[in-house]
Amino acid sequence: MNEPERFRSPEYLNVLDPSPASQACQIEPSAIQCMQQWAESGYPNEICGLLIGTINTQGWLISKVVQIDNLNHARASDRFQLDPAGYQAVDKSLRGSGEEIIGVFHSHPDCPAKPSPTDMENAWEGFLYPIISVHQGKIHELRGWCVNDAGKQFQSVPMQSISVHLQSGSTSV
Ligand SMILES: [Zn+2]
Repeated sequence: MNEPERFRSPEYLNVLDPSPASQACQIEPSAIQCMQQWAESGYPNEICGLLIGTINTQGWLISKVVQIDNLNHARASDRFQLDPAGYQAVDKSLRGSGEEIIGVFHSHPDCPAKPSPTDMENAWEGFLYPIISVHQGKIHELRGWCVNDAGKQFQSVPMQSISVHLQSGSTSV
């Protein structure tokens, strides 16, 4: 994929911390499939949603993902705004479950799976930010990011596809 010029501008490069994150992410394989399907079916618009799971000293354990409406209709091809009502509904449904919202995913239609300055402005420390790159309607790449300790840049987070349910001992099957 040809990377748009702006991804090589100082403004874009400044939001990337070249050192990898000290924590990693383990994610249920079905959750990756969901994000990829939504990113393809939403193309050429950006899709977005929430990561559900737990956080421990090793990092993020994602058991499932939920798609949330992108309210930015004016610039849906390169911006997203999570529907706050959707966020609140998911948050409420998780109370007492032992799981919580631990991150936000979104897609980059015809752009690399790298965060933009706008993504940095909206990022929360402690959250995981997977970005799904979609090229001409097909999945190109999925990469995980988190805010570094200084709070000003994104660090790359390795994402391992593994059955989180079995590992955590919670009920599945
Ligand atoms: Zn983005």
